[in-house]
Amino acid sequence: MSNGPGISGLILDEPLLWEKGKPGRTGFSMPESDVPSAPCEGSWYGDGVDLPDLSEVDVIRHYTRLSQYNFAIDTGMYPLGSCTMKYNPKLHEKLASLAPIAAAHPLLEDELSQGMLRLIYELKQFLAAITGMDQVSLQPAAGAQGELTAMLMFAAYFRKKGEQRTKIIIPDTAHGTNPASAALCGFTAVSLPSGPRGYVEPVDVAARMDDQTAGIMLTNPNTLGLFEESVREITDIVHRHGGLVYGDGANMNAVMGIVDIKRCGVDALHLNLHKTFSTPHGGGGPGAGPVCVVDELVPFLPTPVVEKDGDSYRLVDNLPDSIGRVHGFFGNFSVLVKAYCYILSMGPENLKKASQLAVLNAGYVKEALRDVLHLAFDRPCMHECVFSDKLQRGDKVTTLDMAKALIDHGFHPPTIYFPLVVPGAIMIEPTETESKDDLDTFIASFKEVVAQSSTDPEALHEAPRRPKLRRLDETRAARKPKLTGDM
Ligand SMILES: *Cc1c(COP(=O)(O)O)cnc(C)c1O
Repeated sequence: MSNGPGISGLILDEPLLWEKGKPGRTGFSMPESDVPSAPCEGSWYGDGVDLPDLSEVDVIRHYTRLSQYNFAIDTGMYPLGSCTMKYNPKLHEKLASLAPIAAAHPLLEDELSQGMLRLIYELKQFLAAITGMDQVSLQPAAGAQGELTAMLMFAAYFRKKGEQRTKIIIPDTAHGTNPASAALCGFTAVSLPSGPRGYVEPVDVAARMDDQTAGIMLTNPNTLGLFEESVREITDIVHRHGGLVYGDGANMNAVMGIVDIKRCGVDALHLNLHKTFSTPHGGGGPGAGPVCVVDELVPFLPTPVVEKDGDSYRLVDNLPDSIGRVHGFFGNFSVLVKAYCYILSMGPENLKKASQLAVLNAGYVKEALRDVLHLAFDRPCMHECVFSDKLQRGDKVTTLDMAKALIDHGFHPPTIYFPLVVPGAIMIEPTETESKDDLDTFIASFKEVVAQSSTDPEALHEAPRRPKLRRLDETRAARKPKLTGDM
């Protein structure tokens, strides 16, 4: 097996600190006490805290090893589709943690937080410019919450107009959060199968769009990595019936500053700052899912909004039709700071270039693997490409087998079995931050895995072989997670 990144060297076993401790070990030496000892009554630590005795080196090695147990974008390529696991410059983390920013109190008066308000105001303008939309709310803390915010605004919009609209059209390739967000706002999801070429077909939208339908939730580029060919036709149909178009913009990495989303006919769009705009995605850390809207929806935006008054900035609350707050204070502010720094450090031309390189890299992987893996839709792809295990089924090798084998080569597996419309899907999003050398190593490793499916399929059924833990029973791991140290 060829050596991929980060897979040579030792794999260390690490017990719990309680198992490592030995009575009497200590991290420091104290001089002998020269005063009489006294009992510690009513001590703050109680009387029964069971802490292990450990030396300094025990503790340092323990935590350093644990810090290396996890695979991360800082250790290797992480080509999860529909996730944009790209490398984010550390400088932005540093700027977001500068004391004047990180320690600023969110309850400070407007006059005392002019810098923060300016940052919010300008970031809204940047995101509006990048997407072509009119106004932005930075409050939502995740993509799914951005969707929910947009759906709440749709509901408020129709209430204001006195219209009863109970349904919303959602293509079958949409992220699972779309129907959930719609349902939380009282809309019933009407599923829309994608057409034979992987696109949403206008005739199918026309067949479902009526006076009781609030509109459509459209992901573009869609979750097959394809740019919706008929996006303008689709949004025209929805508008003709008085509906609204929601755009799921989590996949913005392919089109930053290149596609004018408003001109595509989108009325509300959410962005995942924690995918595209320099906050790491995954791991449950803070995120931000700003919502960008057209003028017609501005009255319904969450409050408070930041406005500019001459040279100063202030929070404005008196919007009678607003859906109200969706997050405490200003949303996840540190994420907003990182996005602001990213946009300023890149500039308009380089943001476009980043998207172009993301598309180029996905296209490169697609072309390099299409001879050995079945390509689900043979169309030009955007930020990601979708294959399947169709060609390997004769050898009884599945997508799961190949994904697990990639771990032995030092790669995080791509997204698998999603979107559901492609049986055995393998969805690869390399992102713009991988060099050609790293892409070539990934491609070579994947080809090696595929070759093994005919020469030694049994080995693939047992993959991964190199990590500390082998193939897990995934259902049991999810239902009965074992969170203690002994495996
Ligand atoms: C990631 C993603 C979401 C959800 O974003 P979260 O921040 O995880 O809630 C929604 N839609 C698409 C297409 C996505 O890729």
